[in-house]
Amino acid sequence: MNDYTKMKKEEFEPLYFKTFKHFIPKPLTYGLEIKPGWYNLVWDLTETIDRYLKNNDKKATVILDQVKEKFGGLRYYYHLEGEPKKDTFKMIWGMNWLAESQSFNICQECGLRGELDKNERWYKTLCPKHKKLSSAVKT
Ligand SMILES: [Zn+2]
Repeated sequence: MNDYTKMKKEEFEPLYFKTFKHFIPKPLTYGLEIKPGWYNLVWDLTETIDRYLKNNDKKATVILDQVKEKFGGLRYYYHLEGEPKKDTFKMIWGMNWLAESQSFNICQECGLRGELDKNERWYKTLCPKHKKLSSAVKT
């Protein structure tokens, strides 16, 4: 498996959009609104959904609406087009639920193991190093 967390946004986004262009018929308004720490997670989720549809439901298409971070967790918004089977809704919902749950244990900055850091200013999922770095920034 490739490690995409080492890539810059300018490198990762074009690769992701090109590889999964059938998921993204029109460009996402703000691109991927996540940090590199979750690039592997989002890549794997998209690839898993893609593979599932190719093997089980060729009449369904997933259209990606938005990918972002909210309250320290991944949000992967999509809708289905075509003629999806009933099971497809459930299966993709489950894959998405799993990835969103996993995001709470993955540092959003670097991809190492992290945990949710909550304070009065933010909710972020961070490893110890990035937790220290971001609490050093006083705004
Ligand atoms: Zn980190």
